[in-house]
Amino acid sequence: MIVTLKPGAEVSRVLGELAARGLWVSALERAPGEPALLLVAPHSAQVDPRELGGIEGVLGVAAPKPQHPRVTAQRARVTVAGVPIGGGAEPVWMCGPCSVESEQHARELAEQLRPLGVLFLRGGAFKPRTSPYAFQGHGEPALGWLRRAADATGMRVVTEALGEEHVAPVAEHADMVQVGSRNMQSFALLKAVGRAGKPVLLKRGMAATVEEWLLAGEYLLQHGAPVVVFCERGIRSFDASTRNLIDLGAVALLSHVYHQPVIVDPSHAAGRRDLVAPLARAAIAAGAAGLMVETHADPAHALSDGPQALPLAELARLVGEIKRGQPDGGVS
Ligand code: PEP
Ligand code: MN
Repeated sequence: MIVTLKPGAEVSRVLGELAARGLWVSALERAPGEPALLLVAPHSAQVDPRELGGIEGVLGVAAPKPQHPRVTAQRARVTVAGVPIGGGAEPVWMCGPCSVESEQHARELAEQLRPLGVLFLRGGAFKPRTSPYAFQGHGEPALGWLRRAADATGMRVVTEALGEEHVAPVAEHADMVQVGSRNMQSFALLKAVGRAGKPVLLKRGMAATVEEWLLAGEYLLQHGAPVVVFCERGIRSFDASTRNLIDLGAVALLSHVYHQPVIVDPSHAAGRRDLVAPLARAAIAAGAAGLMVETHADPAHALSDGPQALPLAELARLVGEIKRGQPDGGVS
């Protein structure tokens, strides 16, 4: 945003007024005799340009055109297959294996998840694996396994469409189509997913800025998605101590400033089971509308991502902790 001052305006006083509103401001170079120009940094507080126009000494305010009007119009609470997400609704849980392993596996897990209050059954039929030699998912049959397991237990299905060719079968079986981190900027896929007309869970690209993430959401809404729920799953950092770096600042920004429904996936962020619960609690504290947690009855034998999967007893404990708002044993 650029604030233009009236000739003769007291620059230091206007700077003080802007700083008092939490804005980060720097003065721009100008030719002698030209009006003073102040640049408001993009990471500054959210302030209506009209309010700044009312400050004494301000001639005008130029704000960038909104880049994602459809995302902006989507306010905090959305509904997916009858489930409210965000805007103060109960935290929503999306749990299940990394990869769906068999019909029986999906069914048994759903039967154990639903009584915990988990409403979304997650699981990959089409897996985005870094190595072509790693398990790629059971493909289309797994969509039916997920659907039947969810229908038998009163759950909803969220699963990934890895490529354009998967959009139709995924949209037919799922309540929510997941776009994975590696595909956040696959624009042809975003358009195809949007056209399917289903709610979308949009994972953040592992090296995507918040603005790029929101613009990816805009693609989906522009092409027909009724709802986009954003999912923070960790971004790349210089430190390999955790698999990814969970960006809770972005979660707070999306939730509290942009008023968007945002889910956090601590499993892919941490890459290790023992960090999932503390990160999940931190995510809810930062404003997350819910959690996506990889869960497996026998993580040691999971076909993918076993080391980060929570066994059911640990998930049950975490659900209880989030409900009570404190870790088991209380806050020490
Ligand atoms: C997943 O949720 O199964 C997955 C592959 O996640 P991500 O796209 O965040 O890596
Ligand atoms: Mn996984």
